Amino acid sequence: MTFKEFPIYRSHLDLARAYWEKFLSKGSKVIDATCGNGKDSLYLAGLTLSEDSGHLFCIDIQKQAIENSKKLLKDNLLKSQFERVSFHHHSFEIFPSESFECDLIVYNLGYLPGGDKSIVTNRTTSLKSLELSLKWVKDGGMISLSCYTGHEEGLIETNFILKYLESLEPSNYTVCSYNFINRNKAPLLILIQKAFPKTALST
Ligand code: SAM
Repeated sequence: MTFKEFPIYRSHLDLARAYWEKFLSKGSKVIDATCGNGKDSLYLAGLTLSEDSGHLFCIDIQKQAIENSKKLLKDNLLKSQFERVSFHHHSFEIFPSESFECDLIVYNLGYLPGGDKSIVTNRTTSLKSLELSLKWVKDGGMISLSCYTGHEEGLIETNFILKYLESLEPSNYTVCSYNFINRNKAPLLILIQKAFPKTALST
């Protein structure tokens, strides 16, 4: 399908980026839990990294993905910004300890575009990682998830994740799912916000 241009967003990724822009600023600490070819990471780096503040943690289970992301970021960031990015070649069920209390955690699920389609995120490890994210993100922080329903495991994974997220206590988290309801098997964007704790004044 070819799309014409639209005024604000055309895809779930445009929508995700619009929210990241609204939420992040220079100095933010962000995890890209599935860095793939590094396109999302590069965008996040532009929003968060200054010469002396911010940190971006790029995780991927595939060596090829880590290499692709590293190259893209190295070629497009200032040296001082690139020094504020770390690369982690392992599954997203573990986060680097320095990334605790981060502002935003991003997942773009599925398989590496142009890579091995048999290496794909799955319901069990994605759910484990999501549980970790809910703890790891700071109070007032966000999690952004792009989910793909166009392949078999993606559909199962998405439904599994949605079921789990529906059970979260609404006073602690808001969970919003954006679906393109007039497109066939379109990817969806899920945004989770973690509440700030009650302040002494608001009790
Ligand atoms: N954000 C990427 C970009 O901008 O190019 C695209 C990500 S791609 C849709 C999904 C990625 O998830 C793949 O690179 C794949 O290797 C990775 N992945 C699959 N299972 C994973 C796991 N358990 N932990 C971390 N990454 C995983």
